[in-house]
Amino acid sequence: MDPRSPLVIDTHELKRRAGSQREVSFTAPAPADLGIDVIGVPEGDPIQFDLRLESVVEGVLVTGSATGRLVGECARCLVDIEDEFLADVQELYVYPESEAEPDEASRMEGDLIDLEPALRDQVVLALPFTPLCTDDCPGLCPECGTRLADEPGHQHENGIDPRWSALGGLLQQNERPQDK
Ligand SMILES: [Zn+2]
Ligand SMILES: [Zn+2]
Repeated sequence: MDPRSPLVIDTHELKRRAGSQREVSFTAPAPADLGIDVIGVPEGDPIQFDLRLESVVEGVLVTGSATGRLVGECARCLVDIEDEFLADVQELYVYPESEAEPDEASRMEGDLIDLEPALRDQVVLALPFTPLCTDDCPGLCPECGTRLADEPGHQHENGIDPRWSALGGLLQQNERPQDK
């Protein structure tokens, strides 16, 4: 654990007295690869943390929230989209010598806590499974790639609704040998 990492916090002020607590608010730059292929938090983007650190018998309970910006692209029309996330943080970090067996990520080193693993889990949970620019985004014209939301009523000369024209093209190809 790197004490200089902005996501590593020091809890020594709690002095390991069960019941003592402290509220902390800070921003930290997002680590790399926080997200999935289509949407995520840009590396270095500020993430706002509002946390309560509470000393308990086995360690330190951290509760609160992390908020920030998501950047990605619409799964249907590929336009850039921007959104916000709100991730709940609720994690028990146990003292190094505690006999409790948390995930290794939740074990403290001295008085230090690494927020990054819990942040990753919670941000990925908060991501939209299929990011869309609008709930009813009509996507792209299968024939020419025009973004249909920009051109309501978009049509090609054959007068066929572009959503069906890809299918029409297939039928024409199949018919051609018989035309001769
Ligand atoms: Zn879209
Ligand atoms: Zn088109």
